[in-house]
Amino acid sequence: MTSPAQNVPRTTNNAGIPVASDENSLTVGPDGPILLQDHYLIEKMAHFNRERVPERVVHAKGSGAYGIFQVTNDVSQFTKADLFQPGKTTEMLARFSTVAGEQGSPDTWRDPRGFALKFYTEHGNYDLVGNNTPVFFVRDPSKFQDFIRSQKRRPESGIRDHDMQWDFWTLSPESAHMVTWLMGDRGIPKSYRTMNGYGSHTYMWVNAGGEKFWIKYHFKTDQGIDFLTQEDADRIAGEDGDYHRRDLYEAIEGGNEPSWTLYVQVMPFADAPDYRFNPFDLTKVWPHGDYPLIEVGRMTLNKNPDNYFVHIEQAAFEPSNLVPGIGPSPDKMLLGRLFSYPDTHRYRIGPNYAQLPPNRAHVPVHSYAKDGPMRFDPARTGAVYAPNSYGGPAADTERFGEAAGWASSGEMVHEAYTLRRDDDDWGQPGTMVRQVLDDAARDRLVSNVAGHLRDGVSRPVLERAFQYWRNVDKDLGDRIAKSVNGG
Ligand code: NDP
Repeated sequence: MTSPAQNVPRTTNNAGIPVASDENSLTVGPDGPILLQDHYLIEKMAHFNRERVPERVVHAKGSGAYGIFQVTNDVSQFTKADLFQPGKTTEMLARFSTVAGEQGSPDTWRDPRGFALKFYTEHGNYDLVGNNTPVFFVRDPSKFQDFIRSQKRRPESGIRDHDMQWDFWTLSPESAHMVTWLMGDRGIPKSYRTMNGYGSHTYMWVNAGGEKFWIKYHFKTDQGIDFLTQEDADRIAGEDGDYHRRDLYEAIEGGNEPSWTLYVQVMPFADAPDYRFNPFDLTKVWPHGDYPLIEVGRMTLNKNPDNYFVHIEQAAFEPSNLVPGIGPSPDKMLLGRLFSYPDTHRYRIGPNYAQLPPNRAHVPVHSYAKDGPMRFDPARTGAVYAPNSYGGPAADTERFGEAAGWASSGEMVHEAYTLRRDDDDWGQPGTMVRQVLDDAARDRLVSNVAGHLRDGVSRPVLERAFQYWRNVDKDLGDRIAKSVNGG
């Protein structure tokens, strides 16, 4: 028997009862069978079997930290949300992630990155669940599940497959803007600290006078944008699968606190019906020339979680957490996510997930939710229903009764957004290729796409992929086809 170290706590079971041994189970004689009354052994084995919660279907591999958001400019003419008022500082949590890979997958695979933020405001939690891209692959939530399956693993072999990916993308031209982004330099950031974050969706802001605006969020990294080449990313994937997680953790641990400056684009509410693009289409950006960036504030990450599982794995972000002064928009993807995010949390970590440390509001919660699995924060005694005559909470309808909404009418249809003058799928990615990328970035885009297509993409998907890129930019598509065909 090993003698215990001095000055350490003595082991107990989960009920606080001292245990007899850390190493030996209870047997009949040293060589005898194990006894069922060794409850500590049984507890250890049983709890171990339950150590995991289901990993997220998307964004499974993540890293995160706590921090603060400080307002640096006066945007109160656009929103009354307390976290955006002049002089305000709000505590927050950020979680960055890859999308398609599982929990143990390498950080440096080419993939969009999640940029999920939770602000602990005076009016409860405000969650902004964005990406490092201002656009997305699809514009209707009905295609999201299909899209993700095409990016994950084949049903028969469990292997990821570029043929599936390009099959879906080339049959979904609305993906072109995002795929151009993904295949470019920003598809593999050098670190989480060196990427931008975008709210991606359009949201509504409402000011104290009730005036409404449409807005888009842009978090620009103060560390400067940086990326990994495909070659470096491939090498690092083999050397250190946790490259980005380690970078973020060590930077904060070393006092090198990363920060991002938040800007918004603001569209007057009345501009939306006649704007040349559908301003709610998630595959489009609002050109800066039309709606310039307005500074709002700075977010700084300054505290690593003291337990990864508790604070990051159990962190639950949901775009449905909208506080007074902020509302949704007619973006169909956003409306779908308002349901799917809280739904996945209820499944993954249980219906009382809002009580867990990273998800708890920093203001008192007076909801009428009660009981359910793992409830440990008692609902109030007394009135557990509303309305009641016994002092239970009552909604402040006068202050918060008006929904941040918009007028809508029409027949019920299964139809895509009505097209507007500039609403084609190829225009914005073409602009990026021709006007934003320089020659070296265009060369890397050709090389990245061609390398991806050479890796298991069959005909006729391959021919469609060449046409897809020619639609984005004729010269680019020709170069990709030539590279793949060995010309
Ligand atoms: P701008 O010239 O004003 O903006 C171009 C933006 O492109 C830059 O501000 C930068 O955004 C971003 N960018 C620079 N290099 C890259 C790169 N290698 N990969 C991806 N993005 C890059 O033009 P517009 O606003 O008129 O937009 C033109 C095109 O630029 C769009 O069609 C879109 O593809 C792309 N773009 C537009 C954004 C927007 O919100 N308007 C945002 C990002 C890209 P940032 O400063 O955010 O890093």
